[in-house]
Amino acid sequence: MSDGRTAAGVRTARELVGRSKDPVLSEDNPFEAMMARFDFAAEQLRLDPGIYKVLREPEKQIIVAVPVQQDSGEIEVYTGYRVLHNTSRGPGKGGIRFDLNVTLDEVKALAAWMTWKCAVVNIPFGGAKGGVVCDPSGLSIGELERLTRRYTAALIETLGPDSDIPAPDVNTNERVMAWVMDTYSMHKRHAVTAVVTGKPVEMGGSLGRREATGRGCMITTREALKHLGLPLRGTKVAVQGFGNVGSVTATLLEQEGLTIVGLSDKTGAMYNPNGIYIGDALKWVHEHRYLAGYPNADPISNDELLELDVDVLVPAAVENAITRKNAARVKARVICEGANGPTTPGADRILEEQGVFVIPDILANAGGVTVSYFEWVQDRAGYFWDEPTVNERLESVIRRSFHDVLSVADRYEVNMRTAAYMLSVERVAAVHRLRGIYA
Ligand code: GLU
Repeated sequence: MSDGRTAAGVRTARELVGRSKDPVLSEDNPFEAMMARFDFAAEQLRLDPGIYKVLREPEKQIIVAVPVQQDSGEIEVYTGYRVLHNTSRGPGKGGIRFDLNVTLDEVKALAAWMTWKCAVVNIPFGGAKGGVVCDPSGLSIGELERLTRRYTAALIETLGPDSDIPAPDVNTNERVMAWVMDTYSMHKRHAVTAVVTGKPVEMGGSLGRREATGRGCMITTREALKHLGLPLRGTKVAVQGFGNVGSVTATLLEQEGLTIVGLSDKTGAMYNPNGIYIGDALKWVHEHRYLAGYPNADPISNDELLELDVDVLVPAAVENAITRKNAARVKARVICEGANGPTTPGADRILEEQGVFVIPDILANAGGVTVSYFEWVQDRAGYFWDEPTVNERLESVIRRSFHDVLSVADRYEVNMRTAAYMLSVERVAAVHRLRGIYA
C-alpha cells in the first residue's frame, strides 16, 4: 500500500478543489457522507493530489426523462438517473432503485460506494448506480414494466456486459432485471444475459444470488464475533429491515445459533427477549405482507429497536439510520451494515468512542455484488455452477476480504471503515497510476 504515493498531503488537494474540512456539516447528505470517509482514507494514504481529484468525480452522470403511459391512459413523466463513478478496474456495476427519495446526490454516493465495495472484495468491476424517482407500490405491474423498459431504452448506450451492468436494489427485483435484460436484448437483436445480474435463474441468473447479500452479512458478523472472542450461541441480535437483506441475514444468523430478539420493517418494530423465530415471522409476512400485527413479539418503536440491549445490530434498511442523535444510545458491541450508508460520519465518531466494532457497508453487504460477479462469469462462460459451489466461493471471498480489512486496521491502527476505504481506494488508485491519464 505504499508504492507510488507522493509525499504531498491530500489536504492540499482538498483545498485546491475547495472542499470543506468539516464533513459533519451535511452528514445527512449521502454524497457528503461518502466523501468524508473517502477524504479521511485518502489523507491516511497520503494519496497523490491528482488521483484524489480524479477519484472524487463521478465519470458519468446521466439524467433521463422516462415517459410512461399509465393504465388510465394518462402520461406520467418520471426522472431517472444512472451514474458511473469509476470504471478503471472494469465495467460499472451496481443496482437500480425505484424510490420517491431517489436524488442525484444519493445515486452519486451509491455509485461511489459500489466502486469501493467491488475493490474491497477485489472483483474486476467499477462502481455504478441507477434510480428512478417513483413510488413503485402505487404502480400496476404493467406500469412498472413500461417504466423499466423505457428507462432501460433511455440508457441503451451506457448499458452492456463490458460497460455497465445493473442489478436489483431498493424496490427492484428479479422480475425487473428480466425486463431490463429483455429490453436490452431486443435492441441488440440477440439474447445478452450478462448485461444484468440478479436475474431469474431460468434465464441465466445464479443460484444463491438472492441470498448472497444476507449470507455475506452473516459471514462478516460471524468473523467479527470470532475476532472479538464472543460466542455465537445465544448472542442477541436486532435487525432493522426485513426485506431481502434483513430477512436472509436474520435467518442465517439464527441458523448459526444467534438469537434474534428485535426485528422491524416499514410498518413497525418488535421485540421478544426470548427470541423471535424467523421462520415464523417470514410465514407471517408471506401471509400479511408486512410484520405489523405479528403476534409473538411486543411492538416497539423503530428508535427503540436501534437502542435495544443486544450484542449485534444489523441496520439493513436505508441510509442514515444511526446518526449523531441516537449513536450514543446504541448498546450493540457489533454493527453489521446490511444497508448502504446506514451510519453517518458524525455517528462513526461516537460509536468508535464507545468501542463498537462496525463492519462497514462496503464490506458487510458485498456478498450481493460478489455473487453478481459470479453470475456474470457464468453467463459469459455459458457454464453454470451448483449452489454449494457458489456459496463456498462466496464464503472464501468474504472471509478473505474481512481479514484483509482487519489487517489494514491493525497495521494503521484505524477502525474497520477507514481500513476498508484505505484498502479499496489504494486498489483503485493503483490501477490509475498504472493506466495513466489518456490524453
Ligand atoms: N444493489 C446491491 C448493492 O448495493 C447489489 C449490486 C450488484 O449486485 O451489482 O451492493
